[in-house]
Amino acid sequence: MSEPAISVQNLSRSFGKLEAVKEVSFDVAAGSVCGFIGANGAGKTTTMRIIASLDYPNAGCVKVGGHDVVNSPVKVRSLIGWMPDHFGNYANVTVLEYLDFYARALGYRGKDRQMRVQEVMEFADLLPLSDRFSNKLSKGMTQRLGLGRSLLHDPEVLIMDEPAAGLDPKARVELKHLIRILAEEGKTIFISSHILSELGEMCDHLLFMNDGRLVHQGDAESLRVHGKQAGLSLYRVHLIGSSDQLSNWAAVNPNVEYLETLKQGGRIQIDSADPEKAAYILARMIQDGLKVNEFHREERNLEDAFIDLLESTNQATHGAPMTPPPLPINS
Ligand code: ATP
Repeated sequence: MSEPAISVQNLSRSFGKLEAVKEVSFDVAAGSVCGFIGANGAGKTTTMRIIASLDYPNAGCVKVGGHDVVNSPVKVRSLIGWMPDHFGNYANVTVLEYLDFYARALGYRGKDRQMRVQEVMEFADLLPLSDRFSNKLSKGMTQRLGLGRSLLHDPEVLIMDEPAAGLDPKARVELKHLIRILAEEGKTIFISSHILSELGEMCDHLLFMNDGRLVHQGDAESLRVHGKQAGLSLYRVHLIGSSDQLSNWAAVNPNVEYLETLKQGGRIQIDSADPEKAAYILARMIQDGLKVNEFHREERNLEDAFIDLLESTNQATHGAPMTPPPLPINS
């Protein structure tokens, strides 16, 4: 098996008493797109900064392309493109001047530099913005400039910290399109977000962080399976009558949780994955006078599945159910 592009073993990092990352281990396969998911403060940026050789671990070993980030930071930096969540732009510097400056700092000279800057501008659709001031761009344009900058030295591994945050839907689609092209070129992409549904679609592998720990890894489907293993299932219930009838009924039935009101009923969760139990619950609803005209099992969406995962992790850690941190879905 070939060497992982990124290898993180027992990584820990504290800031004073705060343990931001706690004994985290994972590998990112070369040529894969790996999503790094967690709520605010989960420890994603801290982990990514250490992988990018911008911070030191307190414990553990982190390698990029087989090179240790602490012992060989210069080699590691030649292999990675780092796109931070925020980066400063300079006043009165155009997009072209900005990229030209970084290309010069990376050692490109003369015609090579011009060609490389042109290639990157073409890829990131920056040619029409060539003469615009780099600190006066929209959020989407700024992200494309950041992407362009991180690609100048044609790195094998791209580390992107929340690149889609704050983008409008069109800019997100454009960014996803660029990431897909880079993945097709064979680059390894390690990308963080709290927008689960977006990463679910585009990633080969997902890593889930909560409170400094890696709580799950796998593809999007594995997260849903985790919910099933936890013994939960979701049903959409349509009924003739008001949704209140369903929520009132669920409130007095211990195996059922009312999740959401829909146009003609609601969505409920049953504390079992067994279809026999669902059939029994349907029969009970009808017996109790609810006029059910549709009872349909649904796949858990990724956000719900992630919240279940956090709840079960918190229960395992603290011994009692806790409210999971709010997870901004589309911001
Ligand atoms: P977000 O999505 O909000 O960026 P995150 O998952 O990237 O969150 P981190 O930025 O890694 O989380 O932060 C993890 C924890 O470490 C947070 O509690 C944060 O306040 C803390 N932290 C991060 N950097 C520092 C620092 N330099 N000094 C002190 N505390 C820090």
